[in-house]
Amino acid sequence: MGAEPTILEPHTPHQPSEPHIIVRGEGCRVWDSTGAELLDAVAGLWCVSLGYSERRLIDAATRQLERLPFYGSFNHRTNDVALALADELAAVAPMSRCKVFFANSGSEANDSAIKFAWYYHAARGEADRTVILSHERAYHGSTAVAASATGLAHMHGGFGPLPFDMFHRLPCPDPAGELARESSPEEFEDRLLAVAEETIQRLGPKRIAAVIAEPVLGAGGLVVPPPGYLRRLKELLRQHGILLIADEVITAFGRTGSMFGSQHFSVEPDLLTVAKGLSSAYLPISAVLLGEHVWRALGDQSSRLGTLGHGFTYSGHPVCAAVARESLRIVVERDLPGRVRQVTGPVLGEAVSRLADAPGVLGVRSLGLLAGIDLAAATKPGVAGKRLAARAVEQGVIVRAIGDTLILAPPLATEEHDLTDMVKRLDAALAAEHSAPAGE
Ligand code: PMP
Repeated sequence: MGAEPTILEPHTPHQPSEPHIIVRGEGCRVWDSTGAELLDAVAGLWCVSLGYSERRLIDAATRQLERLPFYGSFNHRTNDVALALADELAAVAPMSRCKVFFANSGSEANDSAIKFAWYYHAARGEADRTVILSHERAYHGSTAVAASATGLAHMHGGFGPLPFDMFHRLPCPDPAGELARESSPEEFEDRLLAVAEETIQRLGPKRIAAVIAEPVLGAGGLVVPPPGYLRRLKELLRQHGILLIADEVITAFGRTGSMFGSQHFSVEPDLLTVAKGLSSAYLPISAVLLGEHVWRALGDQSSRLGTLGHGFTYSGHPVCAAVARESLRIVVERDLPGRVRQVTGPVLGEAVSRLADAPGVLGVRSLGLLAGIDLAAATKPGVAGKRLAARAVEQGVIVRAIGDTLILAPPLATEEHDLTDMVKRLDAALAAEHSAPAGE
């Protein structure tokens, strides 16, 4: 391994050695700097939905770079591409008559959605509604507000002054968790809803601005909540005038087998955030979709204050927006949500279910093109996951280890034979790990 890298690596413990370096991609494959070819079973970071060589996205970016490389969206001046993308997103959104606000990352979209929730309540004369609820083990991003809403303690350590007073947690809706013990899915939902109601009453219903929730928790270890939970939570929140922000940074654009995870769970959120698959990650762009009641209240407030004091230089960047338009067009043309639901999701689900009996595997679960494989813990939590992820690379597949859970979230455009090959390689990694002498 080479010298200590100059790059400060995100979400990485301090590493004095050279990182694993990816240099090229094609379809669902990437090549590293040693020339090794790897199947990418996590689509980068759950984001390269259309794979690494979608010519139409490259052409869309090039055309737009040549026509208008930049114009922002401040002071009632914007660009034609951002306007068109907003229309197209609103047309597929799981909320009627929504408006679209653009940002650059999932974290920024979530920060924006939470700020909009505060602004909404202030506009309605309820400025005391400042509390934001989120779930234990949820991941909502790394900017200060989104990190505060994140329910993963290891992402808070050392960042003392994050505004935690305003952020409270609901229990993780994990069907394998303590709260679900000895209960049917319905009973588990009842318990989750009872805790939510109790939490709202304890904190004061009129102090709570919003709940932010991932329809399926990703970075918390791929948690698929019981089917009716999100819908029933939304109904409870509605009764208390609390907004629901669906964080669909992972689940939007087909990953669960529906266009949006909210549709999979039959819920109409008040606000919804998207990023990753919006542009298939070819360029950074994210968005907040705002329901009509929300954007109307925001409009009233900004008329009163003279402006909506929120936005980014690159909100609706025309090159990113051009790529996002093309990406959305491809997702719709190829009916990727339908394909995930009917073809590729079942192929992945079946292949992964066969791993349930592999050595060292405690359990498996999947939804659409998302799968989680729980490993028996080794000496310390997280060690087995790390070792298996490294073994998987030796077998030619990249998976993500979250603690002792391995995550698969391949590109939505992955062919069936590549999906089964990814799982076969993972199976080989499990076998290799099991047969390795202890301490190797
Ligand atoms: N929300 C969810 C559900 C995510 O998975 C992520 C990123 N993994 C984010 C928000 C943050 O997105 P970004 O890294 O683009 O800021």
